[in-house]
Amino acid sequence: MTAAARDELNVYESAEARFEIAAAKLGLEEGVYRYLKYPSKEITVYVPVVLDDGHLEVFIGYRVLHSAVRGPGKGGIRFAPNVSLDEVRALAAWMTWKCAVVNVPFGGAKGGVICDPAKLSKSELERVTRRYTAELSEWLGPERDVPAPDIGTNEQTMAWVMDTYAMHVRQATTAVVTGKPLELGGSQGRKEATGRGLMICCDKAVEKLKMKRSDCRVIIQGFGNVGSQAALLMHEAGYRVTGVGDIHGGLYNERGFDIPRVYDWVYRQQKPLPEFPGGGEWSNAQDILFHPCEILVPAATENQITAQNAERVECRILCEGANGPTTWNADPIIERKGIFVIPDILGNAGGVTVSYFEWVQDRQGFFWREREVNERLQDAIEQSFDQVVRSAEAHDVNNRIAAYIVAIDRVARALKLRGFYA
Ligand code: NAD
Repeated sequence: MTAAARDELNVYESAEARFEIAAAKLGLEEGVYRYLKYPSKEITVYVPVVLDDGHLEVFIGYRVLHSAVRGPGKGGIRFAPNVSLDEVRALAAWMTWKCAVVNVPFGGAKGGVICDPAKLSKSELERVTRRYTAELSEWLGPERDVPAPDIGTNEQTMAWVMDTYAMHVRQATTAVVTGKPLELGGSQGRKEATGRGLMICCDKAVEKLKMKRSDCRVIIQGFGNVGSQAALLMHEAGYRVTGVGDIHGGLYNERGFDIPRVYDWVYRQQKPLPEFPGGGEWSNAQDILFHPCEILVPAATENQITAQNAERVECRILCEGANGPTTWNADPIIERKGIFVIPDILGNAGGVTVSYFEWVQDRQGFFWREREVNERLQDAIEQSFDQVVRSAEAHDVNNRIAAYIVAIDRVARALKLRGFYA
């Protein structure tokens, strides 16, 4: 597809654009290129659920397995009203590249159900989850495809997925999902893992650019699992978090926020983030991205930095917590501004790395201490960061394309070693 014909806000096209550039740089053979470009399987399920008021609703759900070349599929399940097959496809492909960048032995997959979890009761959500899982039960499994939480799903959802799958195969199978509660085979450190991975990347970039943590103003968009954990960890490590925001709006304070208090306000007191009483200038949910800072962490959702607004980004390091927060059209503007980019498939890979550790622990039936999990995570992310930076230098490309090159190269090598069945 030509660049002009692409829809900038279609995440599948955004993912494909980067894949094409990296594949060309790598000189990928035409056949392998085609093999890796398309998903291996796309499943649509119609999920009938009786709602609390007695009426029968049918929800549409998807599971896309992009690749199982390096191991079982791995990827979250998203519950949101705007889920689409294109989005799930893009997220599945990103999972393949993400797992390959951090060298964990998984392929890529993703799932989603078109629903609004805020409008469903807990028991309705449980029925949606169980029926969706039941419809997919023959495609899931510790050696087939291993889901995890994503937007709109959480530890409880994963417990329901595990239980439903276990009922179908008639044996306890904790390793069929990750991101589970600790009591059901979850891993220490999983909740913080994506935020911790972001911080490890920022630490590496700060060191590379000869900056100091204490001089870094950090703005984080999104205060969910990823954003809030990144904010807590970075605050504790000595970064100055000067901007936070969620779907309700953002707050900016040059002096920095007391993040544990913000966390308490949002999660214990259940109050709207922009009404946090600790001082700060209000902004709308997107404008928080455009205040000056050293480190900008978009950790909310896709398509936040586009060709229309990228000129307004004023940071030294852009560390992507969300999947696809920057469109492919914005990439050249960000590059021209000399911003050091830590692309999503590296920046937020801490989550899948500890998911891999969870899967390993479940299969061993032996669980690690939190310190061991964090040390192994740090090793994995630091090594991957160095590989991406070396690839950028070797191929004379930006960090995003460099990360795709590392990933595509690993998957292509594995594919050629396996050969092509019949
Ligand atoms: P979440 O649902 O826990 O939190 C999302 C946060 O973003 C919330 O604070 C929400 O209010 C905010 N938000 C949503 N839309 C927004 C908008 N338009 N403007 C401003 N804020 C908005 O989700 P999460 O698990 O934190 O995931 C966030 C992103 O990180 C997603 O792109 C997800 O795919 C990606 N991700 C998550 C993980 C993980 O371990 N949870 C791992 C890798 C990538």
